[in-house]
Amino acid sequence: MFAKILIANRGEIALRILRACKELGIKTVAVHSTADRELKHVLLADESVCIGPPSPADSYLSIPAVLSAAEITCSSAIHPGYGFLAENADFAEQVEKSGFVFIGPNAENIRLMGDKVSAIKAMKQAGVPCVPGSGGPVTEEDDHCLQIAREIGYPLIIKAAGGGGGRGMRVVRNEADLRTTIATTRTEASAAFGNNKVYMEKYLETPRHIEIQVLADGQGHAIHLGERDCSIQRRHQKILEEAPAPGITAEERLYIGEICTKACLAMNYKGAGTFEFLYEKGLFYFIEMNTRIQVEHPVSEAITGIDLVKEQIKIAAGFPLAVKQSDIKFTGHAIECRINAEDAKTFIPCPGKITAYHAPGGPGIRIDSHVYEGYSVPPYYDSLIGKLIAHGETRDAALARMRNALDEIHIEGIKTNILLHKKILKDKDFCQGGTNIHYLEQIFMQKLKNKQNPS
Ligand code: ADP
Repeated sequence: MFAKILIANRGEIALRILRACKELGIKTVAVHSTADRELKHVLLADESVCIGPPSPADSYLSIPAVLSAAEITCSSAIHPGYGFLAENADFAEQVEKSGFVFIGPNAENIRLMGDKVSAIKAMKQAGVPCVPGSGGPVTEEDDHCLQIAREIGYPLIIKAAGGGGGRGMRVVRNEADLRTTIATTRTEASAAFGNNKVYMEKYLETPRHIEIQVLADGQGHAIHLGERDCSIQRRHQKILEEAPAPGITAEERLYIGEICTKACLAMNYKGAGTFEFLYEKGLFYFIEMNTRIQVEHPVSEAITGIDLVKEQIKIAAGFPLAVKQSDIKFTGHAIECRINAEDAKTFIPCPGKITAYHAPGGPGIRIDSHVYEGYSVPPYYDSLIGKLIAHGETRDAALARMRNALDEIHIEGIKTNILLHKKILKDKDFCQGGTNIHYLEQIFMQKLKNKQNPS
């Protein structure tokens, strides 16, 4: 096992990784920007290194800064968390070249999946069902782009091959808008991701976002931990996730889970990963693979009892998977609410000092958060300040526990989206289960408006 792991991240995920390391008896190194000296994991780590100013480009995204910190602390491995350098293939490569272990898949797999066009191509070859699409990059100058679009059928979605975080996507509803939309998405993609490659996909009108969690050891073993439903989204970004997905049958789980584990074996995948699908009218359509731990991993942990971060570390250290697919049993239902430092109505980020903080508790409640009373949420990073996870024997039991927890949690000094979660948890359609990716923005928000301004 590793002697010392450097945590190349911040916030709740850095604390999550620190906890896993401590359980495994591994020493920890926290790296942080000058704005993050008071982060909980920095205070708890065995060693800490300041790697730069607040700007992510000069600290958390600086490969030389992270590698130098690993060097001076004699770290054995680097855990990238999610975001920042987690899906940067060059970083994974340089970590290994510098003599450290990258906790994640190899650079080749990260690169393959980091480009959505090459990912879709590889997944199609591995027998994974994909959204009907262009199958390759398109430009507004291509003579055949109109033809491809007609074959796929409108509406279409133009997506950036290097996109992420719900950005770099535009819907086209008719032929007249096709070329200009491709051009605009390409310009935006170039500025946002440094890659102007875009492709076309059929725009599904009422899908759910269902994803499969996998673990593979790169030694011929791969398992899946079932699915998560992440359909409660705003601007293509997840707000609340649950596992299992309401209404998904054991047969469907087995079918799609096996396809994903086979795809892992086909590319000799190593580590934790997520295959993201859109699910509509009983069919799964692959959209992308994330080659890292995800924000919503705790709901899968809750229903399987597997610690995904510890598994990532063990796999990176060369241990074969200790659990077989037949060992994975799904117990109960879990829900996660992402708590953001933002206005519950306008969604405008709200950094600042937390003047009072009380965590919820009780059976089946987990909170993954780096905040504490007196902590100041800096304005430089994303607004996620914690994740509240409720697990119960049934979905209704998990919902009831989550409602209690949302009533109990108390944060003063900054605005949060807790009120929004409370309203979602009381919504009749959500409580029935199975709402699609447009539900929150198109129906739920409208219901809230109608309540505020009854005609
Ligand atoms: P990102 O990498 O930015 O997260 P994804 O490809 O994972 O992008 O898509 C994010 C979200 O965008 C999906 O969960 C879904 O809500 C929406 N989306 C993506 N592709 C399509 C599509 N073909 N049809 C309808 N919605 C889509």
